[in-house]
Amino acid sequence: MSALSLDPGRVMMVSLGCSKNLIDSEEVLGGLIEAGWQVIDQAEAADLIIVNTCAFIQPAVEEALEAILEAAAVKARRPVRLVVMGCLVQRYGRKLGRNIPEVDLWLGPGEFARLPDLLAKGSDQNLVLGRPAYLRHSGAPRSLSTGPGWAYLKIAEGCSHACTFCLIPKLRGKYRSRTIDDLTAEAGQLLWAGVKELVLVAQDTSRFGRDIGQGLIGLIQELDRLPDLHWVRLLYLHPDEVDQGLVEAVAESRTVIPYFDLPVQHAAPRILKDMGRQRGPDELLKLIEAIRQKIPGAVIRTTMMVGFPGETDREFRELIDFMGAVRFDHLGVFCFSPEAGTPAARNKDQVPTQEAEARQGEVMARQAEISRQKLAPWVGQEVAVLVEGPHPESELLLAGRTWFLAPEVDGKVIITDGSARAGDLVRVRVTRGHDFDLEGEIIASSEG
Ligand code: SF4
Repeated sequence: MSALSLDPGRVMMVSLGCSKNLIDSEEVLGGLIEAGWQVIDQAEAADLIIVNTCAFIQPAVEEALEAILEAAAVKARRPVRLVVMGCLVQRYGRKLGRNIPEVDLWLGPGEFARLPDLLAKGSDQNLVLGRPAYLRHSGAPRSLSTGPGWAYLKIAEGCSHACTFCLIPKLRGKYRSRTIDDLTAEAGQLLWAGVKELVLVAQDTSRFGRDIGQGLIGLIQELDRLPDLHWVRLLYLHPDEVDQGLVEAVAESRTVIPYFDLPVQHAAPRILKDMGRQRGPDELLKLIEAIRQKIPGAVIRTTMMVGFPGETDREFRELIDFMGAVRFDHLGVFCFSPEAGTPAARNKDQVPTQEAEARQGEVMARQAEISRQKLAPWVGQEVAVLVEGPHPESELLLAGRTWFLAPEVDGKVIITDGSARAGDLVRVRVTRGHDFDLEGEIIASSEG
């Protein structure tokens, strides 16, 4: 008898982790819709619950296990089947099935596209896990979850860097790029669906195409040809890979926003070296200066990691000084998490959690100050804003983003006056600045 065989019914998805994982969730739901399934958002009414997991660091593993146990609790009350997919399955494989028998099917990150077929034909396996080799393509289904105005476009899968703290290459396999033709085909489909902003993602977008004899500059030039595409945003540009050629291509592009997301991770030379990063602080500073010289007003985002093994007070101060020297427009900061199987986890010189968290708090307080100062000059100016919909905290307000705010990670433009629909591109006069958000009023309902 098959372990899992289901006729189409109602499916609910819990999507955890990063934007790359979200695209996988959208693909699975797109495939299920094509097969006749209806997507709902209430677990209690679902015939099938899918949890798409992240397992990059321990807090993500804990969040994933919590979501699975919550779904298992629903299963204890009423008939529902449970599928778990994503990085957690790749990381822990068979161990999971032994500990959480309520799950009907565990699917590795290279296998999720088979789900509609497995459900229709019946799967006699409880774990479907292979080498993570899957690569999305423009013929694959997709049910957009990011709202009508913008969408992520996954340009590559996996990672071939060897950062000593990171498990991603083990979980997602080697870097593999989609082709430019395939990406422009998917971009065309998204534009047809009303998307105005494409957010290009991969574990490292700057390495795009190298494995197939293409490159990011070529992709930018092709995207520039697409009419009706307003904004292209490049996230996750590995700082070791960005060169003058890419900076010039962004400067010349019609669509690519001068928004550079450069996750530098740290600024102390010893730590950068131990992380497996090539460029030291001086080279990183030079790169950022070169960007700002070529594109005055370019926006720079980064991600930092505190509490890397052996991080001394002096090294942490180097990070804070670097922040002061660069004055990043946006910054996210994580505490190092020793992940089994990574070289950094074997280092005996671990920084106590409390100390790392205190450093994380200090970085964020410093960044709030910098961000407030950098947003203040926008007050009184007019900006194009892509409306995302009602503000999550009040139906009376709208929320949107302008070109220098990336979705999900940066602040928002809170619209206090005027009406617009989600997906509209409107003109807004900025009336107030906060630490990370701006406030403004709509002065024209179309950006023209
Ligand atoms: S670039 Fe480094 S941190 Fe980013 S996914 Fe690859 S190995 Fe991990």
